[in-house]
Formats: sequence, structure tokens, C-alpha cells
Amino acid sequence: MSGEGKLFIISAPSGAGKTTLEQMLLDSELDLIKSVSATTRKPRASEANNRDYIFLSKDEFAKERDEGKFLEWAEVFGNFYATPKTKVINAIEEGKNIILSIDVQGAEQVKKIFPEAILIFIKTPNFNTLKSRLEKRLTDSNEEIDRRLEVAKDELAKLDMYNYTIVNDDLDNAFYELKNVIKKCLEKEKEW
Ligand code: ADP
Ligand code: 5GP
Repeated sequence: MSGEGKLFIISAPSGAGKTTLEQMLLDSELDLIKSVSATTRKPRASEANNRDYIFLSKDEFAKERDEGKFLEWAEVFGNFYATPKTKVINAIEEGKNIILSIDVQGAEQVKKIFPEAILIFIKTPNFNTLKSRLEKRLTDSNEEIDRRLEVAKDELAKLDMYNYTIVNDDLDNAFYELKNVIKKCLEKEKEW
């Protein structure tokens, strides 16, 4: 393996399909690993500790944050989320390509630390599609869905910061596009 690994950041309004697409990337032939975030959010029925998130209490989160263990952290929808620092730094140094699936506040912070990070934004073709995906997912209350939709508007206003935008309408098409973007970025590295 030559040189440093690449850092990809994927952001999306909640419900746009980021987790689904990220899993497809990890299952593909591309040489990628993922950063597992820490959160104070309660686990969903399908989620496992250390696989989907590292689930922490508010006190545990504050302790790790104060000890400098996070690359970035943010409050999203009333919960705290953070990227553990060591795995990301080690991956880059060891030439492994790593994906961070984080919100726009986190992306902004990581871009300052690693200006060469590649930022990809995933969105739905329109607002109604986003609403219906959140409803169909059956993981959030109506109140929580409204909150997520409100935040989505602010996130879309920050699109300029991103290198690529992918519209997740048909899932297979979106995956094809996303994979091609990542492939191209990885191939560029090999040319050097
Ligand atoms: P996010 O991680 O961005 O919050 P998810 O990956 O959990 O979003 O997707 C939200 C819901 O929408 C899930 O139920 C998922 O199966 C569904 N979904 C994702 N992409 C598509 C798509 N292209 N068409 C229809 N449903 C989709
Ligand atoms: P969810 O609760 O739906 O899994 O995620 C809610 C939001 O938190 C999403 O926008 C997701 O990208 C973001 N998020 C997940 N992990 C992190 C993280 O480590 N840092 C930041 N800043 N945001 C995160």
C-alpha cells in the first residue's frame, strides 16, 4: 500500500439513505473501512453496540470528550455524536481508506483538520420523499421526524462545502454513482 489512506465524509439529511448506501459500499469490492461513532442516543432495535455506534451515557461521553479522544463532536437532534480520533488517524497513517458518516457540523470540523478529506452529500429528490422515508423507517416518533425535517433544511443550505452531491432516488443508481465517485478518488491516488 502506498502513502496515506483517503478520508471520505458522507453526510445527508436524516432519512436520505446514508446508512443504507454506506453499508452497500462496505459490502462492495472497494477497499474501505468505517469509523464507528460514539453517541448518547438510545440504540434502535436493529442496532448493536460497537458495530453501528458506540453507545455511551452523557457522563461517559463528556469524559471521553474532555480527555481529547474525539476528532470532532456535535449535538444533533438533542443527542451527542462524535468520531473517535485514534481509528481515523491510524487508518490514514496505515494507508487504509476510511468513511465517516457524520453530520454537516462534524464535516466542517474534520475538513479543517484534514483539508484533503473528500466530502459527499446525499439527498433525496425532494422534501416529500425524505418525509416518507423517515415515516416508513418506523424508528422515530412524529415529533422526532418533524425535528429531523426542520434540521434537513439547514443542512441543505451548507451544500457548497461538499465536493460531490448524489441524489438518492433509485437506490441502485445512487449506489452506482457513489461508488464511481469513490473509485475515481482512489484511482487518482494510485496515479501518483
Ligand atoms: P439515513 O441513514 O440517511 O438516516 P437510512 O439509510 O436509514 O437513512 O434510510 C432511510 C429509510 O429509507 C430506510 O428505511 C431505507 O431502507 C430507505 N431507503 C434508502 N434509500 C432508499 C431509496 N433509494 N428508495 C427507497 N427507500 C430507500
Ligand atoms: P442517527 O441518529 O439517525 O443515526 O444520526 C443522526 C445524525 O447524526 C446524522 O446526521 C448522522 O450523520 C449524525 N452523526 C452520526 N455520527 C456522527 C458523528 O460521529 N459526528 C457527527 N458530527 N455527526 C454524527
